[in-house]
Amino acid sequence: MSNILIIGGGIVGLSSAYYLHKQGHTITVLDKGEITDNCSFGNAGMIVPSHFVPLAAPGMVQQGIRWMFNRKSPFYVRPSLHPELVNWGWKFLKHANAGHVSRSALPLKELNLLSKQLYMDLAKEPGFEFELQGYGILSMYKTERAAEEEAHLAKNAAEIGVDMAILTADECRQLQPNLNIDIMGAVHFRDDAHMSPPKVMNALLSFLEKGGVKILRQHEVTKIDTLGAKITKVYTGDKVFEADQYVLATGSWSPAIAKMMNIKVCLMPGKGYSFSEPEPQQRMTIPALLCEARVAITPMNGGIRYSGTMELDKINTNVNMQRVMGIVESVPKYFPDLHPALPLKENIWYGFRPSSADGLPYIGRSTKRDNLVVATGHGMMGMSLGPATGSLVSQIISEQKTDIDIQAFLPSR
Ligand SMILES: Cc1cc2nc3c(=O)[nH]c(=O)nc-3n(C[C@H](O)[C@H](O)[C@H](O)COP(=O)(O)OP(=O)(O)OC[C@H]3O[C@@H](n4cnc5c(N)ncnc54)[C@H](O)[C@@H]3O)c2cc1C
Repeated sequence: MSNILIIGGGIVGLSSAYYLHKQGHTITVLDKGEITDNCSFGNAGMIVPSHFVPLAAPGMVQQGIRWMFNRKSPFYVRPSLHPELVNWGWKFLKHANAGHVSRSALPLKELNLLSKQLYMDLAKEPGFEFELQGYGILSMYKTERAAEEEAHLAKNAAEIGVDMAILTADECRQLQPNLNIDIMGAVHFRDDAHMSPPKVMNALLSFLEKGGVKILRQHEVTKIDTLGAKITKVYTGDKVFEADQYVLATGSWSPAIAKMMNIKVCLMPGKGYSFSEPEPQQRMTIPALLCEARVAITPMNGGIRYSGTMELDKINTNVNMQRVMGIVESVPKYFPDLHPALPLKENIWYGFRPSSADGLPYIGRSTKRDNLVVATGHGMMGMSLGPATGSLVSQIISEQKTDIDIQAFLPSR
C-alpha cells in the first residue's frame, strides 16, 4: 500500500480520497481553503448522463459571439491576449466540430453513467444522506429554434442509448401538476438525477476524517520539487510533504500547480453564480434546464437553487450583478409563479468550472511525472463525474484494470 498526497479538496479530490482509502492506501488531502464553498458546494447538483455533448461543439462559437454583446447574457469571454486564453481558444476552435462531438459522446456517457451508479451505491452507505433523486431533468424550451436544437440533441441521445422523451407542455404539467409552467415543450432526460452538493461534500469529509484520512485545510501548495521524472516534495509555506504518489485535483487552479512541477494543463476557469431561496410548497420535484436562458433550477434542501452563467476570465472575486439579474429575470418566463428576488451581492455564491478546451476531463497518469495522476478539467460536469473520476484514480494508482476505457480522457491526448 502507498502513501498518497492529494492536492485539492473538491469533489474530485475527496472522491479520489474515498476510493483510495477503501483500497487501504494512506491518504493526505491538502487544500488552500476551509473546504466549505469551493466549486463543488454551490453548483446545481445535477448528475448528467444527458451531457454527452462537450462544450466545444459546432455552433458554440457563433452563439458565444452573439452573447458577448448582451450584458445579461449567460456567456462571456473577457477579450484578452493572455497566452493561456489564446492557447485555450485555439484548442477550443480546433475541437468545435461534429467529428469531435461524435467521438466524445460515448466516452462521456459511459463516464457519467458509471458516476451515477457510484452515487447510487454511495447513497446506500450509512452517513451518506444527500437527497439523491432519480426523476431525471427537464430541458425546457420556449422557442422554435431551441425546440429544433433539443430535437436534434434528443435524436443523437436516442442513437447512443440515452433514455429520454420529448414532451409537450401539457405532458410536463402532468409530471408536476402543482407547478405553473409556460413553455413550448421539453426533453425529459430520464437517466439524469440530482442531489445536494453540500451534503455530498460534508458526508465525504466526515467519512474520511472518521476513517483517519488527514484533511489539511488552509494548506496552500506553494512550491513543488521534482527530480528527473518524479515529484519529490510538495511545500505549503514552510511545511514539506513527501509521498509515493500524488494526485492533482485542484480544479480551476490546476494550470498554476501544474506549472510548479513543470507540466502543462490547459484549462480556463468558467465562473458561474448560484443562489438559493426557500420554497415552502416544494412544488418542483424535477430539476429544469432553461434552454434559451442557460439557467439551471434545482429543488434542494427544501428550497430551490438557481444557477447559471459562464464567464471565461482569470480567477477573480467580482460579482457581476447584471448577469445575476439575467438569471433572476429568466425564471418567471418559464415558471410564472416563481419570482426569485435579486439576492444581495454577499449572498451570491460563485465558483469556477475547470473548463478544458475540448470539453473533456483530464483523467490519467502524467506522461512527464511518473508518480502523478491528473484528475481535473471537468468543466460543467464535475459534480456529476466526481465519483467515477475518484474510482478511476484509485484503479490507476493501484494498477488495476479501469472500469471504463479512459483513452479519451488521458491528459496527454
Ligand atoms: C454555477 C455552477 C453550476 C454547476 N452545476 C453543475 C451540475 O449541476 N452538475 C455538475 O456535474 N457540475 C456542475 N458544475 C461544475 C462543478 O461544480 C465543477 O466541475 C466541480 O465542482 C469541480 O470540482 P473539482 O474538485 O475539480 O474542483 P473544486 O471544487 O474547485 O476544488 C478544487 C480545490 O482545490 C483547492 N486548491 C486550489 N489551489 C490550491 C493550492 N495551491 N493548494 C491547495 N489546494 C488548492 C481549492 O481550494 C479547491 O477546494 C457547476 C459549476 C458552477 C459554477
